[in-house]
Amino acid sequence: MSAYQLRAAGVTDVGNVRPTNQDRLLAEGDLVAVADGMGGHRGGEVASRLAVETLGEAFADDPTTAGLAEAVRRANTAVWEAAAADPALAGMGTTIAAVARVRDEGRERLAVVNVGDSRAYLFHDAHLTRLTSDHSLVAELVRSGELTEEDAREHPQRNILTRAVGVGPEVEPAVAVAEPAPGDRLLLCSDGLFNELADDEITSVLASVPDPALAADELVRLAKDHGGADNITVVVLDVG
Ligand code: MG
Repeated sequence: MSAYQLRAAGVTDVGNVRPTNQDRLLAEGDLVAVADGMGGHRGGEVASRLAVETLGEAFADDPTTAGLAEAVRRANTAVWEAAAADPALAGMGTTIAAVARVRDEGRERLAVVNVGDSRAYLFHDAHLTRLTSDHSLVAELVRSGELTEEDAREHPQRNILTRAVGVGPEVEPAVAVAEPAPGDRLLLCSDGLFNELADDEITSVLASVPDPALAADELVRLAKDHGGADNITVVVLDVG
């Protein structure tokens, strides 16, 4: 018997400015993920799609916390090798953030992994907390006290990542474990959401829209209202 009843819904949107959507999401079964691709030509789209597909296949082989981390490494290899095989895709890469129901030595819980600046949040007891730390230049400046969270959202170099999937032969994902309570929600998103919306705006939607699909739609609608300068991807995962 499962400890958690999970219900996920996601939406991805090109936004108001970008010509193509290089984000990708997965919101089915016991694995949800968001990937934000980068690279010229079709590179960004190929990287995020390949990473999410590889992640899903690899996680199915070993649905544990260690297996989820290994699935990110396999996604890295897949993107890295595809980039090496086609000059038009050279330099492509992607972020990834994923949450999965795992069983570690008989114990069921949720594993959280990320590379880059796509995020996972926990909404518990009307409060939003971040489960991931960004691998980005501005996040490092926030951590060292040189930049505020608010400045980071407007910073001209906010897109510079310090870690990404597929840009090198190996990558190490950050790994965390969550043991949410019934009624909690998890949110996964690309930077197109949190660069447009402050935490209190995200909190307000999660607190007021019970249906996960409608909550995801509302978050995307607000991000577009606020400018929609980037692709926007949101997955809401309800824990029952
Ligand atoms: Mg983005």
